[in-house]
Order: sequence, then C-alpha cells, then structure tokens
Amino acid sequence: MSKFVPMLFLMGLFFFMWLLLYAHQRKEKQKRALPLREDFLATHGKAEPSCHACGKTELKDEGLGSGQDARRIVSCTACNTLLYRYERAAEAEAN
Ligand SMILES: [Zn+2]
Repeated sequence: MSKFVPMLFLMGLFFFMWLLLYAHQRKEKQKRALPLREDFLATHGKAEPSCHACGKTELKDEGLGSGQDARRIVSCTACNTLLYRYERAAEAEAN
C-alpha cells in the first residue's frame, strides 16, 4: 500500500499542474477573443468605456504577453471582467 503513495502524490501533482495550465490557457484564449475598443463601445452604445458587468469606469490595462506588450487587454478593477483589447501605437511604446 505504501508503495502507491508516492505515485498517487505524483499523479495528483500532475493533475493539479494540468488544471492550472488549462485555466491559464482558457484565460489567454478569452483575452484574444475580446472585441476591439471601437466594437466594444459600439456594442454597448457607450461614448466612454466602462464595465458592462458592474458599471465602474476604473479599468486596468495590461499587456497581452508581458507588461510592455503593445497588444493591451483592458479589464475592470472592481470585478475583473475582461472588457476589450486594443493595439497601442508603436511611438507611444517608445516613450
Ligand atoms: Zn466590473
């Protein structure tokens, strides 16, 4: 019986890692499928972007791949809903 404990542990660990990876990839896919800023504003009939889930206007802006990525993902600071994406202009990135 005790022979199987390390194996069970490894299997559990493997499963846990797989689950983490799966959750991460799902989130990445959702980010890539987000509408562009113009489409987001048009869909929700807004002039200024705000969260469609809770109505807050405080949004956070993150890079898709890294913090400095020109492809930006905007989400709500209050409820973490993913809202839209946009491409940052190359000259803005140089600053
Ligand atoms: Zn929100």
